[in-house]
Amino acid sequence: MTTRNRFNIPTLEEYLEFVRGADRKTGAFLEIRAAPQADLPVAADESGTAGDPLPLPLPVAVKDNIAVRGLHLTCGSRMLEGLISPYTATAVERLQRAGATVVGKTNLDEFGMGSSTENTPLGRTVNPWNHDLVAGGSSGGSAVAVAQQLVPVALGSDTGGSVRQPAAFCGVYGLKPTYGTVSRYGLVAYASSLEVIGVLGADIATVAQTYRVMRGLDEHDHSSVDHPADSRGAVRTIGVLRGELGLDPAVARNYAETERVLKGLGYRIKPVTLTTLEYVVPAYYTIASAEASANLARYNGVRYGYRPVYAENPEELVRKARSEAFGREVKTRILLGTYVLRSGFQDQYYTRAQKIRTLIRRELEEVYREVDVLLMPVFPVQAFPRADAAGEPSAAHASSTAGTALDAFQQKVADRFTSTANLAAVPALTVPSGLENGLPVGMQLMGPAFSEERLFSVASALAGEIPLRFPPGTRSWPETQGLAPQGEGAGGP
Ligand code: GLN
Repeated sequence: MTTRNRFNIPTLEEYLEFVRGADRKTGAFLEIRAAPQADLPVAADESGTAGDPLPLPLPVAVKDNIAVRGLHLTCGSRMLEGLISPYTATAVERLQRAGATVVGKTNLDEFGMGSSTENTPLGRTVNPWNHDLVAGGSSGGSAVAVAQQLVPVALGSDTGGSVRQPAAFCGVYGLKPTYGTVSRYGLVAYASSLEVIGVLGADIATVAQTYRVMRGLDEHDHSSVDHPADSRGAVRTIGVLRGELGLDPAVARNYAETERVLKGLGYRIKPVTLTTLEYVVPAYYTIASAEASANLARYNGVRYGYRPVYAENPEELVRKARSEAFGREVKTRILLGTYVLRSGFQDQYYTRAQKIRTLIRRELEEVYREVDVLLMPVFPVQAFPRADAAGEPSAAHASSTAGTALDAFQQKVADRFTSTANLAAVPALTVPSGLENGLPVGMQLMGPAFSEERLFSVASALAGEIPLRFPPGTRSWPETQGLAPQGEGAGGP
């Protein structure tokens, strides 16, 4: 079978050169290389004589915790540094069959644990709007690759907000699908009952198309489900949160403004109070850490991954491998997970968290009897300063209005709006909702299970009123080739 590159053979290398050059500024990628596709069966419409054009003839960037054969699979961890994946995730394979070309692997917080893409020794990713700020995380590299216009679409994973939060920080779309609609086969496990592969993109039609190509039952993932046809009608009523939400003034202003725009588009707005919101973070971190401690037990320095230079005996080998190769945040989570699962204490923590999870899901089900979709903040603040940016000269960004850095605990507390959707297994979509202080803000649309298409419809309506903006100075590949006009709405405010 011949190797076929569906992204226009003569320009692929040049295109990769463009990505390499532009990526020097922001560090979205850990690896920039086109994935081999030679052994994909040729679909009926690829005969070159007849058939519809492939539905997704685009370059795609993939978060480095999702397997792509022939490319690295580091999970942003020293533990897996140098590992080349021998297989491809189902979601990625479906995109490749639809004509997509994987062009590289993007940076992330180690094993997806974090909200800033700073928890990794393997790369340094900054926010393209202001290099002193974090990109968000853990799919920060994928968000930056899209915001920098290096790729039109990128894959991420969302366990507690890791697609939606960096999408908001960088000003792009970010979809976390309903749990199980996209196969997790090939996604390196962090917290299996919460996570799903998601899509980041620069326009809502491409995000929707990418999702449609990826979704569906997979024999390799027994938690995968088929997407039942959504029989509900058009979205009419949108719920907005009332009560003390603890939002930064700029985010609060943008939330109110987005509500006003939706009202102007003819949606009925209904105030909603989520009484379970304050329990989301403790429940999420109890469950996520418990699952992480079990999932990460496989990294023991024996079968694959990091191996210490010297060990006296097997015990020492395992201890050294894990203490030398895992980063601080990962170790914290493993310890926390082991703590909440230890015998005699499960009722107090893990079982209780599962009960709270049920309450959160039930409250949302009640809410969706009254409203079709919820409009929620994504994160209480905009992109915050990088920990290593303090004191660095930032001449290029002298007008920085950045707030204060968030420590690891504050970052966790701020996950309350995103983790809700993971605990309830429902879909949620970050939409770019304009600029505040010269930086992007994103809001999320959250719906009942399998309501992705309705989220897309509201997002499309909103896009007509609040167009996506790219960071000043960025240019897409077609623009550099004179193939497209300068991006609509590109540039500053
Ligand atoms: N910030 C959350 C965490 O650290 C979300 C991570 C994710 O979705 N992968 O767990």
